[in-house]
This record gives sequence, C-alpha cells and structure tokens, in this order.
Amino acid sequence: MATLVTFHAHPDDECINCGGVMRKAADEGHRVVLVVATRGELGEVDDGFLAPGEDLTTRRVAETHAAAEILGVSRVEFLGYTDSGMMGEPSNDTPGTFWTASVDEAAERLAKILVEESADVLTTYDDNGGYGHPDHIQVHRVGRRAAELAGTARVYQATANRDDVRKHMGAAAAADAEAAAAQGIEAPESFGPPEEWEIGKPLEELTARVDVRAYVAAKRAAMRAHASQISEESFFLSMPDPVFAEAFGVEWFIREGAGPGITETDIMAGL
Ligand SMILES: [Zn+2]
Repeated sequence: MATLVTFHAHPDDECINCGGVMRKAADEGHRVVLVVATRGELGEVDDGFLAPGEDLTTRRVAETHAAAEILGVSRVEFLGYTDSGMMGEPSNDTPGTFWTASVDEAAERLAKILVEESADVLTTYDDNGGYGHPDHIQVHRVGRRAAELAGTARVYQATANRDDVRKHMGAAAAADAEAAAAQGIEAPESFGPPEEWEIGKPLEELTARVDVRAYVAAKRAAMRAHASQISEESFFLSMPDPVFAEAFGVEWFIREGAGPGITETDIMAGL
C-alpha cells in the first residue's frame, strides 16, 4: 500500500481533475489524502440555494467531505487560505488569499502533511494551473516547493489534453448554444472560439495518460456532491453518460522530470 496526496485549489477541483485516479488508487488499496488550499469562498451560488443563515464556506466544506467519501479519501485537510478569485479581480490582493501567500510558508503547511503521511505520490497542477486561475497557478508553485521540503520524489502535475478539451468542451458549448437558440432563451456565456482556449497543455508535453473509465460513475457522483457549484444543468452533469465517459474518462499528467511523450498509464504504478 502506498499513499497518494492530491493537492487542489478549491473544493470541486479534486473531482474534475483527479476524481478518477483518486477512486482508482483507493480501490487498489492505497491511502488517499486530499488537501485543499482554500474553502472556495468566492464560488458563485444561485439565489435561494443556501438555507437561510447558511454560509457558502460551510456548505463547500461539507460538500468536499461528501465528495471525498465517494472518492475513497481517508483524510481531508484545508490549508486555511482564502479564495483569490479569477485572475485580474481586486480580490487577488486581499490579505489571506492563497495567491498572496508566501510560497515557502504555504509549502511548509503542505510539506508537514506529506511528511506525516510519508507520501509516495503528490499531485499538483501544471504551471498555468490548467486555465490560469491564480489559486491554481499557486498550487503548482506551492506543490513543487512542498515536495522538495518533504522529499516527495514523485510529483505529477494534473492537467488536461488541450486538443481534447477544445473538442469536447467546444462541442458541449455549441450544443448548449444551439439548445438555447431553439428554446429562444439567452445563450450561455461564450468563452470565444474553442481553438483559442488556453486550457491544459499540448499532448507533446504530457507524460501520463490514465484511463479512468471504470471510475467515471464515482467521479460524476462526486461532482454531484458539489451541488452548490456544479448544477444538474452544467455540462458536467447534463451530458449523457457515454459522452461524459469520453470527455472525463482519461486523466492527464505531467510527471516532473519525466518525458517527453507518454511514458506512464498509472500514477501509482510499482507502488
Ligand atoms: Zn479551482
């Protein structure tokens, strides 16, 4: 048995990026530890979703624990920073946000967990945080430094296959726009032409391709547990199961120090 520590920026990121490898590792008898930098305080929530007096942060912590149980997580830790908001927002500079945190100081918090757990494998994010969110970029920086401090040799940057994302999410966005037009309602927010989306990394930079199709039901159920952020109408939950399996049935990583090219199909191989 080995220990996987999977490090994320906000509640729900763990399901989207690593839900498959988490459930897979747990099913194979490994210990899975989830560490989340913030409690996702700036997430948007529909009016009336929260009960009177309920605050979003408390809800998102509860959702994280529920999703973690579905994914086979043994321990959940929050590093105690706050959500920085999207790049360029004034909230980026608010004291206490993850983006304003000292990389060394935040890395010490994570390294303490890595040492306690004798972590064999750490997952972080690519150097653009997948899509440029400041807290996600900080996961990359803090994760790398924490691994150095703790002596965790095996670090995988969770990312996406850029071409795949453009294809699948582009198709989902086009379908949503078409459905909206047919119903005569306003089209969902457009993020521009899919071929220009700076999401994930090109295939030639990726080193691990993990087939998690056997775990997509758990991955989707875990997404559903984050109901304050991922609604039934979102493309994550509205697409038919086979389409979801195709879009989310592979998780991609860049192993630090490995490559070029795909050299691995399992981040826990040999452990
Ligand atoms: Zn996030």
